[in-house]
Amino acid sequence: MKPSPFQYHRPDTVEEAAALLEELPDAELMAGNQSLSIVMSNRLANPDHIVDINGIDELAYIDSTDDAIEVGALTRHRNIDSSPVLSETYPVLSESAGQIAGPVVRNRGTIGGSIGEADPAGNYPCVLVATGGELELASADGRRTVDAADYFVAYMMTAIEENELITAVRFPRDPFPVDRTGMTFLGQKRAAQTWPTLSIACAVRVDDPAADDPVVEEARVGLANAADVPLRVADAEAAVEGDPLSEGSLEAAGEVAYDRVRPQDEMHADETYKRELSRTYTKRALTEAYDRAVQ
Ligand SMILES: Cc1cc2nc3c(=O)[nH]c(=O)nc-3n(C[C@H](O)[C@H](O)[C@H](O)COP(=O)(O)OP(=O)(O)OC[C@H]3O[C@@H](n4cnc5c(N)ncnc54)[C@H](O)[C@@H]3O)c2cc1C
Repeated sequence: MKPSPFQYHRPDTVEEAAALLEELPDAELMAGNQSLSIVMSNRLANPDHIVDINGIDELAYIDSTDDAIEVGALTRHRNIDSSPVLSETYPVLSESAGQIAGPVVRNRGTIGGSIGEADPAGNYPCVLVATGGELELASADGRRTVDAADYFVAYMMTAIEENELITAVRFPRDPFPVDRTGMTFLGQKRAAQTWPTLSIACAVRVDDPAADDPVVEEARVGLANAADVPLRVADAEAAVEGDPLSEGSLEAAGEVAYDRVRPQDEMHADETYKRELSRTYTKRALTEAYDRAVQ
């Protein structure tokens, strides 16, 4: 099938894009068009207007400061995957980008489009809730910041208003100093280019990497495709904090993850299987993040 007819607009600035969203009824943003084209071709969405933001160069950047990593909404998965500053100082983000679909989707797809789509199986939303990140949204009325924890409301429903676009995504460095932190992003897929059955974003900060038994001071666990929204599992984090990582604390964290997730049955993975994956991947990701932190 082909999309139903629409009018095409290509703004050059955020202000122009925001003005179009304000003026036009039933307008849809287009970024990498990797998801939108599928939805429109199947006529599951039939917007009257497409606002193509690919001409807004100011939205494509990766900015690293002492406080945060800021990524412009139009930054492609490929650029996030291949960013040296991210792989050296925020690998959970670069690894999450590198595991999205195949090269074609990664060459065109954007972080803003992924978060705009808000699929609970999405890689970045999971990283964002795990790390306590935030989004910058723009409209004709100005800009505002929304915490990731408040953004994902229900299945593919978010706190964004119809007249807003995502302009930037911020991942805080606090409380994860590079020299005492390990981060990882892991997932299980049936095939290389499909969506994951389950993914996990994980970070661990230890007190002293050179100690005989470094203590886990802070941990973060975010799961994708384990509920109707990306899920941070704070009780699994608490299960490993305060002591060196051990078989016992890993078992406890895995057990919490098994209990807390609310997965939907899928054709190839029923609820019980996804609960088991949540347990296994929570243990595996915490172990990998800890090992990286103490290296
Ligand atoms: C075969 C395949 C496998 C995939 N596997 C994965 C995977 O494993 N993990 C994963 O995370 N993703 C996966 N994806 C999704 C991929 O990451 C998409 O690129 C992404 O979800 C959409 O990004 P896009 O830039 O193409 O957005 P588009 O398709 O252009 O837009 C998607 C939606 O976001 C909205 N939007 C776009 N930009 C903005 C913005 N700045 N502000 C607000 N709303 C905006 C659009 O209006 C639209 O509703 C897969 C996609 C495909 C086709």
